[in-house]
Amino acid sequence: MTVSVRAPAKVNLYLAVGAPRPDGYHPLATVFQAVDLYDTVTVRPADEITLQMGGIGAHLPTDYTNLAMRAAVHLAEFADVEEGADIFVEKRIPIAGGMAGGSADAAGTLVALDRLWALGLSQEQLLRIGAELGADVPFCLMGGTALGMNRGDELTPLLSRGKYSWVFVTQEAGLSTPDVFRRFDLEGPEAPEVPEVDTRFLAALAQGDTEFVARHAQNDLGECALAMHTDARAIMDACHRASLPAIVSGSGPTIAVFVSQDECLDSLTELMQEAVPTAQCVAARGPVPGAHVV
Ligand code: ATP
Repeated sequence: MTVSVRAPAKVNLYLAVGAPRPDGYHPLATVFQAVDLYDTVTVRPADEITLQMGGIGAHLPTDYTNLAMRAAVHLAEFADVEEGADIFVEKRIPIAGGMAGGSADAAGTLVALDRLWALGLSQEQLLRIGAELGADVPFCLMGGTALGMNRGDELTPLLSRGKYSWVFVTQEAGLSTPDVFRRFDLEGPEAPEVPEVDTRFLAALAQGDTEFVARHAQNDLGECALAMHTDARAIMDACHRASLPAIVSGSGPTIAVFVSQDECLDSLTELMQEAVPTAQCVAARGPVPGAHVV
């Protein structure tokens, strides 16, 4: 038996960051959207748990530092499973790109092994296990469009009408999420104790006012990420010059450009590569469901 799961990347349509708490964590108020850029997690029965990485992640470690491996071990312990599994992750989501690629692999692994091992866990149980693995894992399980509070792991599905078309401009070099938060603490805007998502933004999402959403998308980490990544800054400047609404995705350096369906990927790629020759562009649409068996 083989089980394959598609695990979507995410973009933060809105990311409000609060002042760090005594434990160092930043409270967040964020709107996530899952997009149709997927890693595929395939699992087969085996005596031990093993992991292989393919696609653009072929060079990543396959030990316990990999979130897919951590998810498998954690699930086996939780459910008292003695069997193993051979896990293969075909990676397409940019690495360290602010699109939750590692969390998507963890979510995909949980869903795939739940099926392979016939555990029959509820979505609620999976969400709880996911939250122990990382703050973005629950959303990668849930998918769609959702409000994430606290560490981003307290989720409420949001009513969101309409489809969003994106071009993600990815970079060769990633950014470390903790480094971007450190910079935010030192040089970022003054952060409130309790961050909030503007209610007009939520209303626009519910009404399907995609223009309003594109114009009012915001990311409190954006300026810090751009200050740490010259090429991402150059891409954002090129978007501004071309009047393209764009945001930094999560902690960057990927830039998410809102496009209308008729905009051509080739011409946009050309424009972006004039600014940064090594930049890559990938088109995606959202929202899509969370990690699911195919
Ligand atoms: P986020 O948007 O959740 O902040 P990200 O998309 O910026 O995350 P990831 O691609 O999830 O970043 O990975 C960040 C780091 O985690 C990588 O540099 C990599 O070394 C490590 N990592 C561990 N497991 C994985 C995995 N399965 N896929 C990608 N990176 C992984």
